[in-house]
Amino acid sequence: MARYIFITGGVVSSLGKGLASAALGSLLQARGYSVRLRKLDPYLNVDPGTMSPFEHGEVFVTDDGAETDLDLGHYERFTGVSACKTDSVSSGRIYSDVLEKERRGDYLGKTIQVIPHVTNEIKDFIKIGDEDVDFMLCEIGGTVGDIEALPFFEAIRQFSQDRRGDCIFMHLTLLPYIAAAGELKTKPTQHSVKELRSIGIAPDILMCRSEHEIPQKEREKLALFCNVRPDAVIPALDLKSIYEAPLAYSREGMDRAVLEAFGITDAPEPDMEKWTDVMDRVVHPEGTVKIAIVGKYTQLGDAYKSIAEALTHGGMHNRVKVKVEWIDSEVFESEDEITPKLQGFNAILVPGGFGERGTEGKINAAQYARENGIPYLGICLGMQMAVIEAARNMAGIADAGSEEFDHEAGEKRFTPIVYHLKEWVEGNRTIQRDASDDKGGTMRLGAYNATLSEGSRVAEIYGTTAISERHRHRYEVDMTYRAAIEATGLKFSGISPDGKLPEIVEIPDHPWYIGVQFHPELKSRPFEPHPLFASFVEAAVKQSRLV
Ligand code: GLN
Repeated sequence: MARYIFITGGVVSSLGKGLASAALGSLLQARGYSVRLRKLDPYLNVDPGTMSPFEHGEVFVTDDGAETDLDLGHYERFTGVSACKTDSVSSGRIYSDVLEKERRGDYLGKTIQVIPHVTNEIKDFIKIGDEDVDFMLCEIGGTVGDIEALPFFEAIRQFSQDRRGDCIFMHLTLLPYIAAAGELKTKPTQHSVKELRSIGIAPDILMCRSEHEIPQKEREKLALFCNVRPDAVIPALDLKSIYEAPLAYSREGMDRAVLEAFGITDAPEPDMEKWTDVMDRVVHPEGTVKIAIVGKYTQLGDAYKSIAEALTHGGMHNRVKVKVEWIDSEVFESEDEITPKLQGFNAILVPGGFGERGTEGKINAAQYARENGIPYLGICLGMQMAVIEAARNMAGIADAGSEEFDHEAGEKRFTPIVYHLKEWVEGNRTIQRDASDDKGGTMRLGAYNATLSEGSRVAEIYGTTAISERHRHRYEVDMTYRAAIEATGLKFSGISPDGKLPEIVEIPDHPWYIGVQFHPELKSRPFEPHPLFASFVEAAVKQSRLV
């Protein structure tokens, strides 16, 4: 059975708990252990699928089709372990499961209470699959003291009693620097630990975010007041790149402190070669490329977290720095803006999105990339826009559009090149989508296979003609327009294995023009960049040499 590391946060949110957890996972792997990371989120939404990207950042989709917190993206990028449905849960999901059982009569007439019914549900969730790994890392979202998180804290407290000796607690806090006093302050951390201890949890390790080195005196003070060993006070200083975290935390002794807390004395030394290479590529780029992301949620970097990271990975692969500029597609609704705003970029990426706002600008950006030989990567909605662009401007279907926009507007205005698929069966899975219920629950979610055409550019990039990628969308490009669109030069080079749903389009006579119905960014890792992103950045490098 696995050993458990529970990671909690205090003082303020946004300290990078997800990143710290992911980095710890990678450090334990570097010592030869197997790990799995899990996120317990206190909010009452059943999952983040229906939350706005402005609220929650990106929705990370797993192979098995769960819509989860973006921290699972960090976990995957640092450990390479694919997350699944059972790696993410919210209070909303837990309560909803408990209430369903109550309605079914599973509790045999008992009064349902937070303790034990809700806490048992959480404990059962935490345990799923723990026989398969050496370490299970469970991160609790939010900060200690949040009302919604209390059942999670109580559940992990009980769990650590049930599994005495197999559980440790790591608490991430902030040491603010008071310039006037020239001092790092430990008091907020002391209070945060006091709060934790008042609910029965004593941290074994403190991770302290700080802008400055933590002097020995402050470390000892923290150790004394918070009842941890001085070498279990781990500084987490600001880093040049998130990918420095494994090396930096290893230097600060994070993994050593964890092993010591478990009393493990015979652990192999960590092999950090992978991370040294990753950092070498980050610190010593041999050039820079500029890529424009023309999207909708551009004010918030977290809304496209995995795309930003996948581009960085593509840059590492080519040993260049990728400078990304986020442009709100609505500015391209006026054609006069396109050339001045997009000139000077070495590549253009149109990401996924929902709803009509900004789509005309995306279509114009796709047209600009196509006509000017600028590398173009369209992801999900970005592929749909590329197809609509080709249909309108090359295949002569002037009113080509997506049913998504007609549904939203409540009137029929477009020829639906992209349509709402009602039912589709692949393998043993049936995707049923009801047009009357357009909010969540009706999407094509998770990993699906695609077959790539022999000799296509994508087949060359992937090095195979059979791929599996993650999806999250309701609408599909309509196969009935295939011949008309292919005649314009935009080829359908990837199709679902049953031949029914277009997965990839490309223009062979263009330096690099590819649209994909899925989300390749979700599977990119720093030490294993996704082939499409590696190739896209390579095309941007080639383009940069032309100008
Ligand atoms: N809105 C589009 C659809 O539902 C695209 C979704 C996306 O880009 N993730 O099909």
